[in-house]
Amino acid sequence: MLDIQKIRAEFPILSQTVNGKPLVYFDNGATSQKPQIVIDAIAKYYQEINANIHRGVHTLSQLATDAYEISRSKVQHHINAKFAHEVLFTSGTTHGINLVTNGFASILKPGDEVIVSSLEHHSNIVPWQMLCEKTGAVLRVIPMNEDGELIMEAYEALLSEKTKVVTVNHISNALGIINPVKYMIEKAHAVGAAVLIDGAQAVPHLKPDVQDLDCDFYAFSGHKMCGPTGTGILYGKEAWLNKLPPYQGGGEMIKEVTFEKTTYADLPHKFEAGTPNIAGGIVLGTAIDYLNSVGFENIQKQEEELLAHATKSLLEIEGLKIYGTGKNKASVVSFNIDGIHPYDIGSIIDKLGIAVRTGHHCAQPIMNFFCIPGTIRASFSFYNTKEEIDLMVEAVKKAKTMLS
Ligand SMILES: *Cc1c(COP(=O)(O)O)cnc(C)c1O
Repeated sequence: MLDIQKIRAEFPILSQTVNGKPLVYFDNGATSQKPQIVIDAIAKYYQEINANIHRGVHTLSQLATDAYEISRSKVQHHINAKFAHEVLFTSGTTHGINLVTNGFASILKPGDEVIVSSLEHHSNIVPWQMLCEKTGAVLRVIPMNEDGELIMEAYEALLSEKTKVVTVNHISNALGIINPVKYMIEKAHAVGAAVLIDGAQAVPHLKPDVQDLDCDFYAFSGHKMCGPTGTGILYGKEAWLNKLPPYQGGGEMIKEVTFEKTTYADLPHKFEAGTPNIAGGIVLGTAIDYLNSVGFENIQKQEEELLAHATKSLLEIEGLKIYGTGKNKASVVSFNIDGIHPYDIGSIIDKLGIAVRTGHHCAQPIMNFFCIPGTIRASFSFYNTKEEIDLMVEAVKKAKTMLS
């Protein structure tokens, strides 16, 4: 069992008060908090080894380059990629997805089809729409049911030899539903389509195995997994990364430049133009080490208990409805109370120190499906407690009384 109090003490922000109340942070789906070891590692980088990477012969540049590449191989082992050069540093999930859609602009032809799911975050919808506009490809959408689960028969009916790419999130940010991605990848590959998995919400809760999943691309952000903002990873299979053109031109991504012709660097540098977030990339490795030291089995066990406790306690409130009632769920509860706008509840409970997200959660199509303006989303991390959930439930009850 995890010693939650000991873990909480490692996150300095968790002992703060907000509006005079102890902070209850349930907005982990938007970004996670950072342990002291991650905060310290950022300072240590700037205090001790700050230098540009892959360029200098001098000692600091070598140290910084080594630290950056060690972090890349940490990520490689964490997600079980076959090669370190299949792991690209990005600024986040959004960047990774755009890198891929930009690459497919030179591959797709009019009439080709791209399949997205109805559970996607805007950052896994809009870049594909832009790609379709540019190429004349057609966007198809996998529908979901009332429980917030993707309908697999409908997905399989959409697949054909026209399908060139399928994209789906591993875990939905708005509802917490865990999608059957391995199954979906297998079905997509059977028609020859490539698959991108948006893993932004999965990596805080589980350790993805990209070879077992057999996905072609897997994108995620560092900031949702205890790492710094402005960091992220795009995993791509070697063959695909060799096939796709570079995303941005600039320093670092070239082999040789003349005004007649430029040749590109080998992987992964072909996709890493310019000076990256060096400190962030290194410290993402620190965050991954930290999560592994807590242990994903422990994390999942704690989060399952939190989810069960929150679901049960919230449902005792009359008029409260939870969205995303599928069986396979991460520790996210998205809910509304009859006749009350989610924003009003969020504002009142914020005064009581409770941080939740209200709104459409960058997933407007899901809200449209349920015919609601948004939800209140409480997303839990392993450092949260049942006592905090009880505080939230009491606060929601209070807000309900004030607003009805
Ligand atoms: C947060 C999130 C994104 C976008 O991540 P950024 O860090 O903002 O680039 C994409 N997809 C899902 C499912 C997310 O939760």
